[in-house]
Amino acid sequence: MAGEPQDDCLFCKIVAGQIPATIVRETETTVAFQDINPQAPTHVLVIPRVHYRDVATLSAAEPAVAADLLRETGEVAAQEKLESHRVVFNTGSGAGQTVWHAHAHVLGGRGLQWPPG
Ligand code: C5P
Repeated sequence: MAGEPQDDCLFCKIVAGQIPATIVRETETTVAFQDINPQAPTHVLVIPRVHYRDVATLSAAEPAVAADLLRETGEVAAQEKLESHRVVFNTGSGAGQTVWHAHAHVLGGRGLQWPPG
């Protein structure tokens, strides 16, 4: 069922504590942890505890949780003392999405180019 944990989902396993992650913040609805392959000095992923394949699906089904996720990106940036930062939601394989559980990348700690590649 939509929103339910998926046995084959890496990020559901992180939410359940079955796979280790360096968690930096947690709320009732979200978990934030260090990306294992950081693309910037600060690279944190913020994920909802509920499982949806991408942010578009999450925000359509559970807008309140999507709002929590967005708010948490700002909290992470503040906690990490980022002067500026970028929030990225890769959505679809053509956009670089590789993990099919909605997640925000919070990137900062260096100059970021625009447009992104
Ligand atoms: O947007 P995309 O789906 O490509 O992002 C997935 C991210 O999850 C990658 O940046 C990858 O490094 C990260 N990851 C992680 N811990 C894992 C597996 C993937 O932080 N165990």
